[in-house]
Amino acid sequence: MPEQIYAKPAEEMLWPGHSFCPGCAEPVLLRQVLSVLAEDPSTSLGESKKKIIIFVTPASCKSVCASFEANAEKVFDMASLFMSAPDRATGLRMALDCYGIQDALVVPWMGDGAAFDIGFGSLSAAATRNENILVFCHDNEAYMNTGIQQSGSTPREAWTTVTTEGKKDAKKDIVRILADHGVPYVATAAVAFLDDLREKVRKAKDIQGFRFIHLFTPCPTGWRLSENLSIEISRLAVASRVFPLYEVFGGKKYVINKMPDKIPVDDYLRLQGRFRHLIKEKISEIQKSVDSQMDYLKKLSLIKSQA
Ligand code: SF4
Repeated sequence: MPEQIYAKPAEEMLWPGHSFCPGCAEPVLLRQVLSVLAEDPSTSLGESKKKIIIFVTPASCKSVCASFEANAEKVFDMASLFMSAPDRATGLRMALDCYGIQDALVVPWMGDGAAFDIGFGSLSAAATRNENILVFCHDNEAYMNTGIQQSGSTPREAWTTVTTEGKKDAKKDIVRILADHGVPYVATAAVAFLDDLREKVRKAKDIQGFRFIHLFTPCPTGWRLSENLSIEISRLAVASRVFPLYEVFGGKKYVINKMPDKIPVDDYLRLQGRFRHLIKEKISEIQKSVDSQMDYLKKLSLIKSQA
């Protein structure tokens, strides 16, 4: 069981009435992230003196379900083109700095389609320049709000509407790619481990420079998953090592945060209709790949921990 699956935010920053699908993990993550961003003792001098938070949201489930039609967030939220949320955030940051508003948080909130594919050039360029922005990627592993098409984040063998026999390519390792830009902070977080998520958001918001948090975001609609299993599937993803929880500081120091008792990857796969077609041999291949990636991550955490 997860150590804690529910952490009540000190302040609600997400209105009721958003239109995410039932059971979607994203509003849970968004609610937690917003509440942590809003809590800031150094600037909490009363309601009117709170830190300014400006989201930049490209096309995604959030843009449809919470931002511009539902208007469910109690923060500024600026729409951006699919490919350029980090560019827009960079311009915004520069403008705020020109006006001396340096404690404002500029927060691109990108789906995997934007972060891994369409906006990857913009994201990589912002990381290279070490822009002072805090980027979140809510990763539901496909283009969900346009009809469940594969993205660079879709895992190998997963069904989507354009990979009906399973995706042939591997999921892009966005965390390691961005860490290799040498940026100050990159981390992963999952909805079954909210304390871990909140701690990482607290840490990230006080770091200067480019920060990126990769959010594992179960999508009942696209994963063909029962609506009541988003938290459970997130816990299984971490326990099976499919989605390890870790941080990378300065592109060098890798820290693995949680290593629950290891379970077979099949325990994670079999609850999801998108993997229903898998035969035993394919599951064994996935298990080998997950084990090998975890071994590599462990080596990085050992080799680079003293760097
Ligand atoms: S399509 Fe998936 S990620 Fe998008 S709102 Fe629905 S459940 Fe959430």
